[in-house]
Amino acid sequence: MIDSPSAEVTLNVSLTAANDADADAIRRRLQAAGVTAVNLMASPGAGKTTLILATGRALAAQAAPGRPPLRLGVIEGDLATRIDADRIAAAGFPVVQINTDGGCHLDAAMVAAALNTLPLAEIDLLLIENVGNLVCPAHFDVGAHAAVVLGSLPEGDDKPRKYPAIYATADAVLVTKFDLAPVLDFDLTAFEQGVRLVNGDAPVLPLSARSGAGMEAWVEWLQALAARVQDGDRAP
Ligand code: MG
Ligand code: ZN
Repeated sequence: MIDSPSAEVTLNVSLTAANDADADAIRRRLQAAGVTAVNLMASPGAGKTTLILATGRALAAQAAPGRPPLRLGVIEGDLATRIDADRIAAAGFPVVQINTDGGCHLDAAMVAAALNTLPLAEIDLLLIENVGNLVCPAHFDVGAHAAVVLGSLPEGDDKPRKYPAIYATADAVLVTKFDLAPVLDFDLTAFEQGVRLVNGDAPVLPLSARSGAGMEAWVEWLQALAARVQDGDRAP
C-alpha cells in the first residue's frame, strides 16, 4: 500500500498530458476554421443554457455596419438527456449534445468527437456548456480559447472562496441572475474579493439573461476575445 499514492499520481499526470495534447489540437483546428471557443463552467442551475440562448440573441442585436454578428454554435454537456440541446436547437442555433453517461466533466476527446458533427464553417463563436459541477471541470482542458465561470445569485457570494480552483481558471467571471439582487442577500463586493484571492485579472460581470441587463458588456468581451483569437492569441 505504500506504493499506491505515487502510482496514482503518475497515472493522473499521464492522463492529463494526453488530454492536454488533444485540447491543443482542438484549439488549432478551431482557429484554422475561424471558430473561437469558450468553456462555460458552473454549478447545476446557474443559468448556463439560458445565458447561451440570451447570448445568441444579444450577438445578433449588437451587430453593426461593417461588423457582422458572431454566429453562435453550441456544445451541450450533460450527464443525461438532450433537454438543453433541444432548447438551443429550437432557437435555431447549431448544437450537439454530449451525454457523459454519468461522467462529471467534459474532456478534450469528447469535444473533438462533437466537433465532427457541427457545421464549423457556419460558426464563429462556439460556447461549450460543461457539465454542471464546480470541481473537476477545472482540471480538464477541453480545447477552448477561454474559460468562463458563472456564479449565480442564489448560490451565494461565498462560492469563489469555497471552490477556488475553478475560479482560478477563469478568463471572465459572470454573476448570473442578477435581476434577483433585490430579493437575495448577495454581496457583490464579497464575491469579487473571493475571486481576487485566486484570480487577479478576470473581469467580474454581473448580468441577467432574463432582463438583458449586463449582456452588452458580456457580448463586447466575447467580440474582443474572438478578435484576439483570430489574430493568433489564445486568451484575452
Ligand atoms: Mg444547462
Ligand atoms: Zn469530473
